Amino acid sequence: MREKCAVFGVWGSPDPVRLAYYGLYAQQHRGQESAGIAVADAEGAIHGHNGMGLVVEVFDPRTLAHLAQGSPIGAIGHNRYSTAGGSLACNAQPIIQRYADGQVAVGHNGNLINAAAMRDRMSEAGHLFSTTSDTEVMIHLLASPVARRSPDPTAAMLRRLQGAFSVVLMFKDRIEAARDPWGWRPLVIGRLPGGEPVVASETVALDVIGAEFVREVEPGEIVTLSDEGVSSRHFAQPAERAAHCVFEHVYFASPASNVFGQNVQLARETMGEKLATEAPVEADYVAPMPDSGRSAANGYARASGIPYREVIVPNRYVGRTFIKPTQDQRRAAVRLKLNVIQEMVRGKKLVIVDDSIVRGTTTREKMQQLRSAGAKEIHLRISCPPIRHPCYFGVDFATRDQLIANGRTVEEIRDYLGVDSLHYLSLDGLLSVMDRPAEHYCTACYSGDYRLDIDHPITETEVVGEQLKIFD
Ligand code: SF4
Repeated sequence: MREKCAVFGVWGSPDPVRLAYYGLYAQQHRGQESAGIAVADAEGAIHGHNGMGLVVEVFDPRTLAHLAQGSPIGAIGHNRYSTAGGSLACNAQPIIQRYADGQVAVGHNGNLINAAAMRDRMSEAGHLFSTTSDTEVMIHLLASPVARRSPDPTAAMLRRLQGAFSVVLMFKDRIEAARDPWGWRPLVIGRLPGGEPVVASETVALDVIGAEFVREVEPGEIVTLSDEGVSSRHFAQPAERAAHCVFEHVYFASPASNVFGQNVQLARETMGEKLATEAPVEADYVAPMPDSGRSAANGYARASGIPYREVIVPNRYVGRTFIKPTQDQRRAAVRLKLNVIQEMVRGKKLVIVDDSIVRGTTTREKMQQLRSAGAKEIHLRISCPPIRHPCYFGVDFATRDQLIANGRTVEEIRDYLGVDSLHYLSLDGLLSVMDRPAEHYCTACYSGDYRLDIDHPITETEVVGEQLKIFD
């Protein structure tokens, strides 16, 4: 199961439920299948509510009021997106569990490549699982006798995980927010005007609740939010080469966010400018595939001098819940969601800019509609390289076979999509836009250069030795 999600946490505010609600609302783009909030109340109990759907569907005023009973002192929240197999109500997070040391609530963004192996091992040893999510493995590790005997159970648990994780854990007296040693997914710390600490996947959540950005949670770091304020420790050394997901800037994150220290909108516009330099063409208009291609199309238009026009209009009344993870549902959604303006397309040479092509079915459908509307030429420009490899670190693309660029040349893809020309931004071009050194980004879905050996996840004995073994 691969997920792309958002997390949020706040401690010490008089109104943590409302802040968590807005924090999740601001990060809705990171996951639309389920949402949840867990609260720690003044009596030391943790309770919560989660469900399938958008934040606004899962929480109504009554649910929020119910959560706010008992003078909560802290809250964590989670938005989730998963593949079809994982689209289950039981997988909605935060997961709340009681174990020998009390209660814990967990929300996780990322994907653990050794979760399946650990889960099998645990199941054989008699552990029962109530979800199919890799996040539940974290709780079993935390509740293991060896972790509980450790002076730092959270660190002991985190050291067992291999893969991408930005995670928030809430106990009765604190929130602990941690990031894997490679820093695949973003995680930031903020401060409310009253000084109360906040953590979120993206800075846009801080903006929405009026918190100021303090800093990123560092790779390998655990940050604790409690009545004593904010404290920090490391559970692992940061990796020598970070592996920040470059796709966060290409597509995933909000344009309003600063991710890995760089504004997403500005990065996307610069990708469009690079694309115009790498793949110029004569045309009447530059037009985006809404909404994903808009930022790069602006950059392309500016750099090329070709007028920017919107020729495909999104139907704003098709809710995002409609977009479910099956192929048929996606195709139906695109017909409803995007309408071509025939009068602007007929007889025109168009540059259409999008940020990426995954399966290609949506793009093909849209190109056919442009042709039917009378477009004279269609030149498709994509502001990242061809996605040829699956992601194992927290973004649900598809299986290798479903990726349009897997095993196909750009010319074959152009032919399949039915456009006059097709160009992708080069990997060097993409990395030249990024603020940090190129070797500090994960580009595995383009290059196949995975930082971890995904076929041989680290096993219990190899990774931990005596001190962190789960089982006595
Ligand atoms: S494989 Fe691609 S989507 Fe996955 S973490 Fe790496 S860059 Fe991001």
